[in-house]
Amino acid sequence: MQFYSTNHNSPLISFREALLKGQAPDRGLYMPEKIPQISVQEIMSFSKLSYSEIAYKILSYFIGEEVPSEILMKLTKEAYNFDIPLIHLEDNKVIMRLDQGPTSSFKDFAARMMARLMQYYLSIDKKKLLILIATSGDTGGAVADAFYNFDNIRIVVLYPEHEVSERQRRQMTTLGKNITAIGIEGKFDDCQALVKEAFSDPDLAKLPLSSANSINFGRLLPQIVYYFYAYSRLAEDEKTELIFSVPSGNFGDLVGGLFAKHMGLPIAKFIAAVNENDEFPRFLETGVYLKLMPSKNCISNAMNIGHPSNLARLVDLYGGLIDEKGNIQKSPNLDVIRKDIWSLSITDEETRATIKNVYEKYHYILEPHGAVGWAALQVFLVKNPQKNPAVSIETADPAKFPEQIQELLQIIPDVPKSMQDQMSKKENIHKLSKEYIDFKEFLKKHF
Ligand SMILES: *Cc1c(COP(=O)(O)O)cnc(C)c1O
Repeated sequence: MQFYSTNHNSPLISFREALLKGQAPDRGLYMPEKIPQISVQEIMSFSKLSYSEIAYKILSYFIGEEVPSEILMKLTKEAYNFDIPLIHLEDNKVIMRLDQGPTSSFKDFAARMMARLMQYYLSIDKKKLLILIATSGDTGGAVADAFYNFDNIRIVVLYPEHEVSERQRRQMTTLGKNITAIGIEGKFDDCQALVKEAFSDPDLAKLPLSSANSINFGRLLPQIVYYFYAYSRLAEDEKTELIFSVPSGNFGDLVGGLFAKHMGLPIAKFIAAVNENDEFPRFLETGVYLKLMPSKNCISNAMNIGHPSNLARLVDLYGGLIDEKGNIQKSPNLDVIRKDIWSLSITDEETRATIKNVYEKYHYILEPHGAVGWAALQVFLVKNPQKNPAVSIETADPAKFPEQIQELLQIIPDVPKSMQDQMSKKENIHKLSKEYIDFKEFLKKHF
């Protein structure tokens, strides 16, 4: 399998190169040349397989012989050692909880698999990497945890010192070993600027710098799997079609689902549920794409994105081209997109009301991101009543948002064991200004 760039101005490369490179030189995103096809019969047979076995099957379609099958099997087994509960709030309304990984965020699905694949390739090449990441909260913890204790990869994660919660910070600062966490006296944009500058600094050229950001195809690939998993557990027969509501920010989660559908998974509709950052539903409605600058601050803060990076892949899947600046160079087939995806923007007020209503009605606690997904699904089902099972994705554990949950429901959500342990562990924090020279000196001194 070869990979091309969505900007169509870079050479074709292998999966291994796409994984280790991340972004294409023409600033496009890597896409597989062909989308493998799976028969519904094979998908139905997944009902007898565990999650990690389904992951192995789906990944093999893309990675092929590039990773020996017994190794790929072992890596998926190590990556997916936690539950993926499907909670039936009603007969045909299900919540798929992707928040049971070690950092209580669905980003664990992608980060844990990508980390293991990178580690595998580096160990055969006897190479080392120093991965720099800037995070506004969730990604840093998931990536740091995923790479923790690996021999040939070191991680430096930069976060805005005053803008992450204590729990988010502890996920990065209590690990130690190959994980270095730096609190930057600045905002997320400052962290990102520092990382970018380090990548283009010739004085740091000797360092084996790399990134692990959300546009890496190695992070998208694992996000195809849970759609197959849900189908294998919920479909009664081959005629079943599912509906998925996906709380979306950078659209990696949704594009994973679109890949599953294009591979042959029977999905009647995707609901792209967004917060007040509504550039995507506007695009579907008007056919005109306008990114939101600056993005809006909503309580579902991992979805405060004014220009989703994976839109480039989505548009490419439907025959169009959108460049990294957000300009549509070639129009995708909007009619087909509208057939596959329905999109709705949910306000913070609606998000809060949903958390309350769902608790009153079902005694079930949603957190803000999952509530956006659930709220959009209810609107869709009122407009389009149907028998298809509908799955709403929950992307984080409510315990990550204790203040909001307590304010709305007057209860304190149970804290998962991994998070409890972090509260008593020693933190190892470095602090730096937002001046590049300080960061550069830090890297030169420590690596
Ligand atoms: C990252 C994230 C999202 C958005 O996922 P995308 O793939 O960026 O659309 C939703 N919820 C949570 C909790 C997240 O961390």
